[in-house]
Amino acid sequence: MAQHEHRLSTTTDAGALVESDEHSLTVGPDGPILLQDHYLIEQMANFNRERIPERQPHAKGGGAFGHFEVTSDVSAYTRAAVFQPGARTDTLIRFSTVAGERGSPDTWRDPRGFALKFYTSEGNYDMVGNNTPVFFVRDPMKFQHFIRSQKRRADNNLRDHDMQWDFWTLSPESAHQVTWLMGDRGIPRSWRHMNGYSSHTYLWINAGGEKFWVKYHFKTDQGIEFFTQDEGDQMAATDTDYHQRDLYEHIAAGQYPSWTLKMQIMPFEDAKTYRFNPFDLTKVWPHSDYPLVEVGRLTLDRNVSDYHTEMEQAAFEPNNLVPGIALSPDKMLLARGFSYSDAHRARMGVNYKQIPVNAPKVPVHAYSKDGTMRVVNVSDPVYAPNSKGGPKADTEHHQPDYWYADGDLVRSAYTLREDDDDWGQAGTMVREVLDDAARERLVANIVGHLLDGVTEPVLQHAFQYWRNVDKDLGDRVEAGVRAGQE
Ligand code: NDP
Repeated sequence: MAQHEHRLSTTTDAGALVESDEHSLTVGPDGPILLQDHYLIEQMANFNRERIPERQPHAKGGGAFGHFEVTSDVSAYTRAAVFQPGARTDTLIRFSTVAGERGSPDTWRDPRGFALKFYTSEGNYDMVGNNTPVFFVRDPMKFQHFIRSQKRRADNNLRDHDMQWDFWTLSPESAHQVTWLMGDRGIPRSWRHMNGYSSHTYLWINAGGEKFWVKYHFKTDQGIEFFTQDEGDQMAATDTDYHQRDLYEHIAAGQYPSWTLKMQIMPFEDAKTYRFNPFDLTKVWPHSDYPLVEVGRLTLDRNVSDYHTEMEQAAFEPNNLVPGIALSPDKMLLARGFSYSDAHRARMGVNYKQIPVNAPKVPVHAYSKDGTMRVVNVSDPVYAPNSKGGPKADTEHHQPDYWYADGDLVRSAYTLREDDDDWGQAGTMVREVLDDAARERLVANIVGHLLDGVTEPVLQHAFQYWRNVDKDLGDRVEAGVRAGQE
């Protein structure tokens, strides 16, 4: 009884009391509905507009709020306030699959997004990572084609392994990421049981202006766990939202997942002479060359209370950077700097950064103005430079965080170096990282995937692709597929 005593009265969106939650206004109990029933019309109109366009890709996801605590001293490498000793910063994270739509199963084989927003004292800093340290392509010209090959055909609107493998096998730079994807980590047991990586190389700059190339590794404190293909398939059939449920329930129960952030740090000058291009997104930096340096801990401790406003409208973008952190010459990263904010504008309008979950916790003194759904007042002067006391860029204290570049205008692959090839690191993973049982599962996963609708000549291409990664692996894949076709 008591819990109902102080219930609030329902209002319209304008705050006026409504007469009924249950009955529309009619001419007599059996008569027609009246157009003047504003509350009914407001409810229907709002309902018809509840969905906004889903993300393309990374449509299915979920996440939580948390905080990042610095546990070590990396001030020698970056002056970013968020990574200074003792700093504690509020965060937002969103995990996601890549290819599936908003209602698709959490346990399909796919990389997972690991998108982070740090609400720092110097403005928002985003790291739009994945649970894999590499990616399928290294030139943004191919990204759109790659995603289309993973989504649906034009004719029957079905996903199609034939086009997935056609794209991959004609794009040898994908081999490292496809090896990773077909391995155990291609279906994480939960979002709590996977690592997050920046994948890209970023630039860190310390207080003295010294520069370092870095890669981020968020190592799960829960340990790596995975689903086999059968387990993932069963879960997809019984609980499509398993990963979302798992995260929500653990946080609600006070079992807060955490990740330890470790960095690989490369002195600025090393990049020029390193044995392969350190900005190539399809490659990792071996730990033996650049060991992990601990930075701090990310903990998730608060569920969202309105999924739409705090997660569906969350906008992460690699160009949300703070002093002491900058982009690198990774072509994919540079393109993402444009495409993420462009995607947010397309989905939510030009003022998406005013949505509370995207707004920084520091004052904004920008010259952006007007546009759909602007809710923060703009004041004069509305232009710069001005002599009217408006904001002025602090050029005096700005430390350059750029790198040097020149050359002819070309459309070209990266200049090849001694150890630049598409197969080597994938082969290392197969031969030196996986054990016999993991290799067995890798073969079974690839064979199962290929038997699901892949046709000639793509099959032939796939056998050669895997032989290029590892001769024995390719032979076993071909034998498995031929046996399965009998
Ligand atoms: P290391 O032996 O130092 O590192 C091997 C890495 O592989 C570890 O980070 C480990 O992650 C990860 N790993 C273990 N099992 C799997 C799996 N089934 N799928 C994907 N990753 C797995 O060797 P190197 O640094 O010299 O790298 C060797 C190969 O390891 C690379 O070619 C790459 O394929 C893979 N790798 C390398 C990473 C790097 O940043 N250097 C990161 C991830 C993979 P964990 O510590 O969580 O067990």
